[in-house]
Amino acid sequence: MNQSPRLRELPAVNSVLTSLPIEPLRKQYPDTTLVGWIRQSLEKVRRSLQSEKLGATGDIKGEVIRQVLQHQHEIAGNSVKQVINATGIILHTNLGRAPLAEAAIQRVTQVARTSNVELNLHTGKRNHRGDYCVELLRQLTGCEDALLVNNCAAATMMVLQVIACQREVIIARGQLIEIGGGYRLPDVFTASGAILHEVGTTNRTYVHDYEHAVSAETAAVMRVHHSNFKQTGFVTEPTIRELVEMKRSDDLPVIDDLGSGWLDSTDELQLDEPSVKASVASGADLTLFSGDKLLGGPQCGIILGSGRWIKLLRQSPLMRAMRLDKLTLGALEATLEIHLNGDALSDIPTLRMINESTESIRSRSEKLASLIKSNAEIRVIQCLSQIGGGALPCQQLPSYGISIATAKPNVLADHLRRGATSIQSRVSADSVILDLRTVDASQIDIIADNLRQSFALISGDSDHA
Ligand SMILES: *Cc1c(COP(=O)(O)O)cnc(C)c1O
Repeated sequence: MNQSPRLRELPAVNSVLTSLPIEPLRKQYPDTTLVGWIRQSLEKVRRSLQSEKLGATGDIKGEVIRQVLQHQHEIAGNSVKQVINATGIILHTNLGRAPLAEAAIQRVTQVARTSNVELNLHTGKRNHRGDYCVELLRQLTGCEDALLVNNCAAATMMVLQVIACQREVIIARGQLIEIGGGYRLPDVFTASGAILHEVGTTNRTYVHDYEHAVSAETAAVMRVHHSNFKQTGFVTEPTIRELVEMKRSDDLPVIDDLGSGWLDSTDELQLDEPSVKASVASGADLTLFSGDKLLGGPQCGIILGSGRWIKLLRQSPLMRAMRLDKLTLGALEATLEIHLNGDALSDIPTLRMINESTESIRSRSEKLASLIKSNAEIRVIQCLSQIGGGALPCQQLPSYGISIATAKPNVLADHLRRGATSIQSRVSADSVILDLRTVDASQIDIIADNLRQSFALISGDSDHA
């Protein structure tokens, strides 16, 4: 092996541990952790010396320290923290989809300690976890019964496993969706043990396609919302009502996987999305949707349905593996209460953001621009927001925000993301854009502070260049 004479200069572990830049980390991490990172960094620097990537004059100890700090930043960057979403994507999956309503946040902190998840406080008897949410869902949607699980993927998995294991489920070819994060419907079928029976063509599927496919092997008929894409042109697929009317037997459930879960609980806001109420009213035996998309609540999967099928699901041993924890249950209750009795358009952040007028977003953008007016590169601009979360994929909402012209937009975006309060922005060719539709008025001052600091750092960088 090529022996660099500089290998002898590699510092001792302890001298790195007690060096000025590493010393402060000893308050945050145990020495054993830091020593592990230092050994890894020493090993990397040893290899760079052997391959002569680190030249004859590079600062060896400095390089080891730099690597340890970089490793620590990378690890700390995964820690889950509050961030500001200035991307204009309302249901941003990487940012935890729906931000919770204030009442839901309060409920989470209240029930976080000891709470009666499975105890009726009036009778003193044990109840089913989520019974109160089920009652709220009945009133909101007209469903007979309901079941709550971890997310809509869990709902789909569980329904297929319990109702259709080793049997066929008929589904239109055009509905075999892939959504983000590697969720592909055919794979979910395989994992659940249900047998996929595709009918129709990519663009056109008729009721008679399903009718012809029904046999003794059929366990269910399923419709899946396209979610994140739209088919236009020469396309057709049956409505959920037509599928319900087609079936000849009560033993053949029609499953409606809605995903986005548009509750349609207010008259003022209308969206071109299949609604939960319509699905239930059409007679779907089981209606599935997410809690953290258009419902605006916590991550969970909601299964509405007739008593018979929900009972079967509830008895499954999978239920224990899928059930909600008390925090989610509390947040969901508070969210459903707003839909039922409150002012959903103002108190559910997701709906408020979708419904906010461009004028009001514009005035917030002007306020932010005025707070940092010293900088000539900042302009108030028109931009386009998106709903995200597999809802209305082709619809963009006209919005306002600020654009910050800079030669290195990625550098500025990195600074904003790594700031004391992280800000997620959009990068275009020669500017960073903050869409204010997804930014709350209470966050404007924080953004202004963070921007000022980022400008200072960036102009500092360019001075050195
Ligand atoms: C989003 C979505 C899912 C998955 O929902 P999660 O709550 O993210 O698990 C399943 N089906 C459809 C149609 C969806 O849109």
